[in-house]
Amino acid sequence: MILRHLLPMIALISMIGCSRNTASPVTQSPDTSSSTVAVRLIGPDGKPGPVVQSPRVVKTDAEWEKQLGPAAYRVLRAKGTEAPFCGNLLDNHKDGVYFCAGCGLPLFASSSKFNSGTGWPSFYRPFAPENITELRDSAFGMVRTEILCTRCGGHLGHVFDDGPAPTGLRYCLNSAALIFKDEAEVKKMGAEAAK
Ligand SMILES: [Zn+2]
Repeated sequence: MILRHLLPMIALISMIGCSRNTASPVTQSPDTSSSTVAVRLIGPDGKPGPVVQSPRVVKTDAEWEKQLGPAAYRVLRAKGTEAPFCGNLLDNHKDGVYFCAGCGLPLFASSSKFNSGTGWPSFYRPFAPENITELRDSAFGMVRTEILCTRCGGHLGHVFDDGPAPTGLRYCLNSAALIFKDEAEVKKMGAEAAK
């Protein structure tokens, strides 16, 4: 199952190496009709807080490019995929939370990270289901489910149904789409949010 999804991608990426990533068109667009989105931020204890309405983060391509730099821009805004075994967060085993590199929304906790063997950071559940938006993606002749940040619409990776218990899901991420903060930083953020 994993190989069927990955082989065409790996073949394509292996021709390019670690210095570039590949762009991938999608067949759906997220619903961006409302100016706010329902998401969960870091709560006082560093865990997911209650659902809140947060302003949608909307910027021009030029603004994103300037803010993100080339690697994160290619993934988040041009839907690129990093070469496997190249991302800086693949082997990060620290406790903490992975945030959107575009808008800072908490996306995945280290407690759900697992070694999928695919070469990309993998998680079996999101930090909060509200924070991830799923879209159908039929690029490269494969039907996959693309995952995006709910707040800024940034492309994060894909989710597959061949993950481990308890969810059976594998959220396959690009390191460049994420910023990691360790447990101490996350608890500090939670304490600030509670003030
Ligand atoms: Zn975001």
